[in-house]
Amino acid sequence: MSDYYKARRTTGLFDPKSKEPFNLSRSKIDLFCECPQCFYLDRRLGTGRPPGFPFTLNSAVDTLLKKEFDLLRKDKKPHPLFEEFKIDAIPFAHKNLNDYRDTFVGVRYLHKPSNFLVFGGVDDLWVNKEGEVIIVDYKATSKQGEVSLDAEWQIGYKRQMEIYQWLVSNNGFKVSKTGYFVYCNGDTGQDKFDARLDFKIKIIPYEGDTSWIENKLLEIKECLTKDEIPEMNPNCDYCNYRKEAVLAKLRFNKEFKNVSGNTKK
Ligand code: SF4
Repeated sequence: MSDYYKARRTTGLFDPKSKEPFNLSRSKIDLFCECPQCFYLDRRLGTGRPPGFPFTLNSAVDTLLKKEFDLLRKDKKPHPLFEEFKIDAIPFAHKNLNDYRDTFVGVRYLHKPSNFLVFGGVDDLWVNKEGEVIIVDYKATSKQGEVSLDAEWQIGYKRQMEIYQWLVSNNGFKVSKTGYFVYCNGDTGQDKFDARLDFKIKIIPYEGDTSWIENKLLEIKECLTKDEIPEMNPNCDYCNYRKEAVLAKLRFNKEFKNVSGNTKK
């Protein structure tokens, strides 16, 4: 097993008998929406999916965008792109912004009915003329044509935006219903690399609806409290892979090995 993956974790697990608030990140809410079984295996039984490789190029774009917006935040100036995308706002300056952006601290809120301490780190916050805080998420990709939010799998991006809107609003801020994705698309149409990758940036507005969140948290609570593993998601490639891998091994053993375990010649 690699050093980066613990297949059997004993920390951060939900204990139905505990009265302490349970830390629940934005990404784990998304995992529950994708598949309650995977979520239960992870948060209740301690076996999570192996982590993916870090997207270091995406992180580099995030870091540079943060620096760029921070310069404008200091000067209380809008980004030049705001004119093109008709956004009347400036980057929001707040003493807690660094915490709000930190993945391990984030914007936090104790949802009393579920006793979940929900948290998530935002990429950025802007503020409009009405004093409403705008949630901003940076995305980086490289694809032919225009970037958009139209693909089915991007539902996770929308939920992400809505959870941040809900968290920031529950921290006492007036929050704009419209959030923005700053979508950077790496241009591969150049004749050669020359050690540089240019990006086209599109700022995509998204009107969030947070009305589903509270019920979802209660659903999560119910799921975690039960001593019963929920159903798997039948469309999930991971589980189908897991199932088929076991079946392939059984077929192999039956077809190619004799009873004493020797491989047939
Ligand atoms: S269906 Fe997919 S998401 Fe669900 S438990 Fe299986 S691997 Fe996890």
